[in-house]
Amino acid sequence: ELAEFEENERGAGAQDEPDTGPMPVVAVVGRPNVGKSTLVNRIIGRREAVVEDVPGVTRDRVTYEGTWRGRRFTLVDTGGWDPDATGMALRIAEQAQVAVELADVILFVVDATVGVTDADEVVASVLRRSGKPIVLAANKVDDQRMELEATTLWSLGLGEPHPVSALHGRSSGDLLDILLEIMPEAPPQRFAAERGPRRVALVGKPNVGKSSLLNKLAGEERVLVDPMAGTTRDPVDELVELGGKTWRFVDTAGIRRRERELQGADFYAGMRTKAALERSEVAVVLIDASEVLTEQDLRIISMVIESGRCMVVAFNKWDLVDEDRRYYLEKEIDRQLVRVPWALRVNISAKTGRHVDRLVPAIERALDSWGTRVPTARLNAFLSELIAATPPPVRGGKQPKILFATQASVEPPKFVLFTSGFLEETYRRFIERRLREEFGFAGSPVEVTMRIRE
Ligand code: GDP
Ligand code: GDP
Repeated sequence: ELAEFEENERGAGAQDEPDTGPMPVVAVVGRPNVGKSTLVNRIIGRREAVVEDVPGVTRDRVTYEGTWRGRRFTLVDTGGWDPDATGMALRIAEQAQVAVELADVILFVVDATVGVTDADEVVASVLRRSGKPIVLAANKVDDQRMELEATTLWSLGLGEPHPVSALHGRSSGDLLDILLEIMPEAPPQRFAAERGPRRVALVGKPNVGKSSLLNKLAGEERVLVDPMAGTTRDPVDELVELGGKTWRFVDTAGIRRRERELQGADFYAGMRTKAALERSEVAVVLIDASEVLTEQDLRIISMVIESGRCMVVAFNKWDLVDEDRRYYLEKEIDRQLVRVPWALRVNISAKTGRHVDRLVPAIERALDSWGTRVPTARLNAFLSELIAATPPPVRGGKQPKILFATQASVEPPKFVLFTSGFLEETYRRFIERRLREEFGFAGSPVEVTMRIRE
């Protein structure tokens, strides 16, 4: 049974991917009040509404899982924009651009009862240039009579408008059929058969120095901007030569374009961070050492933990920290990062270039740890010694036994302990700590789970 389990896990791990591969992403764009939320609810088949009365308000929950005819996809409701905002046309264009970069398919929703507005024209021109597959939904076509109105949307130059009534469900199945037709089979594989340059996500709140660091690292060496040819999803990455190797910094377009000036910047920053992590193998989290750690910093660290990626925390602007404060700052940092004692840390200055050369060795170390596979025999030899010296605590008068252990996966390393009874959380953490000491997983998360055999 155990051997079989191991075989299966190894088989599944062959591509280092869970069975549920990444899903194609559909971004829903359009002005406020055209019925995007209603349509999203219709598609995911849920009533519980994200519908909000205040246009332009950032919504909390923005991604949903949809299924149609057995195919799964992720829906992103990109919200709306405030029609009263100054410089609206620019903002609309920028937001549409963000959606284009995030998604594999764009669902552009227009209110057929209103017809084409200036804002719709702006979005349409961004979408036309993107080359991404686009479905144009003419919403609020509640009856036959309205269908004629919908034909005026041909003028957007996005092909056939598909009449739909999100509210009543009219033709929504047809719309989904069309969406599926143009949706790519599967989004680009995160792990290609032959491994290209390792993928790094540079993340951190606005103004921590991401673009400064990128400039420093890339410098003259910046070889090329790579639109990931041959794939439909093409956030712009940069290939950077560092320490004799080529690295792919993912989604640098988002770093270089000052998104903080965008309306709903936080919202997009969060979405972008998630998307960048998804495409990366290692995250470099930038934190401003000259300021106190904020909620936002901790939220970003949490996102990295959730993503299962390995991590280097870079304390930037170290040049602004005076000698006296450094000692206390180190202590403070230790305290703040208790959740991730394993994260590798470097103190740098993107401005002066101080210790920037320590970044690559840290990244390499983290990636090494992340991909470490401990042979089963060695793992079990180590554990049986450990358990003999420090047995699991007795629970309900019984001593749980660890029968066998195996590493189920790498990237990140996951260990499964087969036991005869429940192991306390503290004991599992103890095992994790000892595994780290023995096999060195610096910079990488490690998961230790158990399977209780009756
Ligand atoms: P969003 O701001 O684009 O997300 O738009 P909402 O989904 O919040 O919808 C705005 C308004 O349009 C709401 O009052 C909806 O009930 C209404 N609405 C949405 N879809 C339809 C439709 O197909 N027909 C009609 N008549 N009203 C709709
Ligand atoms: P981003 O929003 O994360 O891309 O941050 P930027 O790279 O735009 O940097 C924000 C500000 O911090 C700019 O004024 C930079 O010059 C400044 N900055 C970035 N790194 C450092 C650093 O190491 N030391 C100092 N003193 N300033 C820095």
